[in-house]
Amino acid sequence: MNDVVIVGAGPVGLMLAGELGLAAARALVLDKRLEPSELPRANGLTGQAVDLLDQRGLLKRFGKGSSFSGKPPRFPFGPVTLPLARLDVPFRALIIQQPRLERLLAERAVELGAEIRRGWEVRSLTQDEQGVTLAVEDDRQVRARFAVGCDGGRSPVRQQVGIGFPGTTDDQVLRLGHFRGRPELDGLKPGWNEFPHGRVLLTSLRRGVHVVGVREKGEAGPVTADGFRAALRRVTGRDLPLGEPIWLTATVAQARLAERYRAGRVFLAGDAAHLFPAGGSALNVGLTDAAELAAKLAAHLAGAPARVLDAYESERRPLAERTLAHTRAQAALERLSGEDGAALRDLLTEVFAYEEPARHLAALLHGSRTPYVPPGAAGQRRRRRFPLRASRA
Ligand SMILES: Cc1cc2nc3c(=O)[nH]c(=O)nc-3n(C[C@H](O)[C@H](O)[C@H](O)COP(=O)(O)OP(=O)(O)OC[C@H]3O[C@@H](n4cnc5c(N)ncnc54)[C@H](O)[C@@H]3O)c2cc1C
Repeated sequence: MNDVVIVGAGPVGLMLAGELGLAAARALVLDKRLEPSELPRANGLTGQAVDLLDQRGLLKRFGKGSSFSGKPPRFPFGPVTLPLARLDVPFRALIIQQPRLERLLAERAVELGAEIRRGWEVRSLTQDEQGVTLAVEDDRQVRARFAVGCDGGRSPVRQQVGIGFPGTTDDQVLRLGHFRGRPELDGLKPGWNEFPHGRVLLTSLRRGVHVVGVREKGEAGPVTADGFRAALRRVTGRDLPLGEPIWLTATVAQARLAERYRAGRVFLAGDAAHLFPAGGSALNVGLTDAAELAAKLAAHLAGAPARVLDAYESERRPLAERTLAHTRAQAALERLSGEDGAALRDLLTEVFAYEEPARHLAALLHGSRTPYVPPGAAGQRRRRRFPLRASRA
């Protein structure tokens, strides 16, 4: 019997497989896709995920050819810039495109003894006292002592074990496009540009490739080049030449947290457990979920009492709650338009210039175990945990 079956060969499943291998546990990864995904989703890693690669001696290998690795001089907190250059904080970032990250994580997992089977779609799952049986299409079955759903936001595993995924879906859609050449977007500045009915992002990821984002009220759906142009026209009121599209997508931000991280012998990690409505934190939390879960599963498989497994949820869920809270705040800042939004963003820019608030925000983005008092907790307790000190001018 396999020690652990991981459903999903995304970054989190692959990190988990490698970490289990490092601890001498046997992992089998199943993914419904025949080939690794080439979708240009995440552009990099931040905070504890970078520390994790460093601790494993992987930073040089993963950072090879990267356009940035180290402490960034500034970092976005939603639409507000957090200045980090003058702060002595451990927050680091690594620019790495998600397909390359997944390729390297898969290589590492296999080097450490994991098996990856592609074209294996898990259809159902049952468990008993000894293990978990996963049914795959074509009447194939796989059995393991434990199973982990690293199968993304829609997580069939989470649905199979009946764990709820409460939260909210944004009413705005972000259409994103990568374009070859330089789009002639006259009058638009790099970064976000605000219009009465939406916002337009203009940035570049690598030489010769420009990224354009159009945010407006609406729902996700397939995006065509014509549809993208029409959205840009609706928001800016102009026809703007975009260049040759390489990749187009539409995403709607969601803020969701699984009610539980475990149902018996089945665990959840990564997007299957949490979806954050602002960028930059998903992989930080997801990859470190994987490392912590691997350590606990391996310890139990090596003889530690079953209660070691309970610590996974009690340690990881509070971090996801905290991350959900600050990414919700970032998303709210993104949504607020007009003069009110501008005033709030300007005020926060002023506040972030002070060392103490900037340090606190850097710790949140890093994913340090900053204490979190859930809404509704006693104000007294909240004050003790978040002392408001006089700012230094
Ligand atoms: C446009 C965009 C930009 C992003 N930018 C960033 C960023 O800058 N920083 C950041 O941290 N995050 C970013 N993210 C989020 C990041 O991409 C996700 O958090 C990350 O991919 C989650 O990894 P995961 O392994 O949990 O799930 P996924 O990457 O979704 O992988 C899930 C895997 O499970 C497989 N699967 C699903 N169902 C089954 C089944 N029944 N049987 C077998 N296999 C199954 C899928 O094929 C897939 O390979 C971005 C996302 C998008 C869409």
